[in-house]
Amino acid sequence: MNQSEFIPYGRQDLNSEDKQAVLSVLESDWLTQGPEVPKFEQALAETFSAKHAVAVNSATSALHLALLALEVGEGDWVWTSPNSFVASANAALYCGAQIDFVDIDPHTYLLSMEALENKLQQAEQMGRLPKVLVAVHFAGASCDMVKIAQLAQHYGFKVVEDAAHAIGAEQAGHKVGSCQWSDICVFSLHPVKIITSAEGGVALTHSAELATKMACLRSHGVTRDSQALLQPADGPWYYEQQDLGFNYRMTDLQAALGRSQLNRLNPFIARRRQLAEQYHQALKGLAMGLPQLDFTSAWHLYVIQVPAEHRLAIFQALRQAQIGVQVHYLPVHTQPYYQKLGFNWGDFPVAESYYQRAITLPLFASLTDSQQARVVRVLRQLFVEHGI
Ligand SMILES: *Cc1c(COP(=O)(O)O)cnc(C)c1O
Repeated sequence: MNQSEFIPYGRQDLNSEDKQAVLSVLESDWLTQGPEVPKFEQALAETFSAKHAVAVNSATSALHLALLALEVGEGDWVWTSPNSFVASANAALYCGAQIDFVDIDPHTYLLSMEALENKLQQAEQMGRLPKVLVAVHFAGASCDMVKIAQLAQHYGFKVVEDAAHAIGAEQAGHKVGSCQWSDICVFSLHPVKIITSAEGGVALTHSAELATKMACLRSHGVTRDSQALLQPADGPWYYEQQDLGFNYRMTDLQAALGRSQLNRLNPFIARRRQLAEQYHQALKGLAMGLPQLDFTSAWHLYVIQVPAEHRLAIFQALRQAQIGVQVHYLPVHTQPYYQKLGFNWGDFPVAESYYQRAITLPLFASLTDSQQARVVRVLRQLFVEHGI
């Protein structure tokens, strides 16, 4: 093993079939808006037992369309986790809605059910209940969806799952994506995520109405469906713009890659779970917080918690050793843009203290045992050097 080889925190794994799938599209008549997107959508719907899948150019777009389909707009509140990528919250702002956050659980790093319940009680008294909760399945482990669905029923809000990390995960005996307890579930197909279409996202739902709305908004709000027209067609060329949509389309090149990668989801997840268990066994003796060893998680990320006063030095030393550690996530509410909206350090203290100790170790399906052993060896040595 070359000691200086750089190990990223995540990366895609493409085999010859994946590449062939893309080449076949390049040689076909359609680079976009051909047969590959519907085929991919059908494969996704079947794989995750959802009635409908709408493929788009990113998970960010899928979140935006999901909230628009649920009629989120000015005057509405959307709640999400501060421990997420900024896209989970930004989607609400695109709709003109107001955003608020619910703090995380210190053990799972997911939305805290206790914090959610308390905040809902207070919001009800103030007449400020959320219209939608965006539940983020951080690192690949599902939020407590059974509880969230109970609260959604009681307080009358809708649920969107931001499952960007959690394609391949399970929740209470069902696949994430099956929408058992949510209105819409969103996956990301960015290369650092679990399967990839280069860029891409998917929204899954059981609702034909929501799926139709999202599919229409994905392509300018335009429809050619003769059943759906508002005015009589004056010829076979006729199409109608019925809403203000976007160009959020996925290309056929991306869909073909995504469908080929979907065939490899199970071995990818099995390998990620194996690597997570190996990290757990190798690191459990050290004075660091480890993620719960959850075999229903898709294990997008393996985040350790180190003493805050040593985090920067350990992070820098790992990078120096060509180990591509990252930090997930800077709490969204502390971003300058969100501070301008009135949020501040101190608002969600569990997410903040989690962040100050977090380091994401390399974890991806093609990470080899010897690469992982190198990460562990360097980390152990650093703990000795720092007297931790
Ligand atoms: C990556 C990510 C997104 C955005 O995904 P894109 O496909 O890059 O738009 C949204 N939410 C979370 C939690 C993510 O990790």
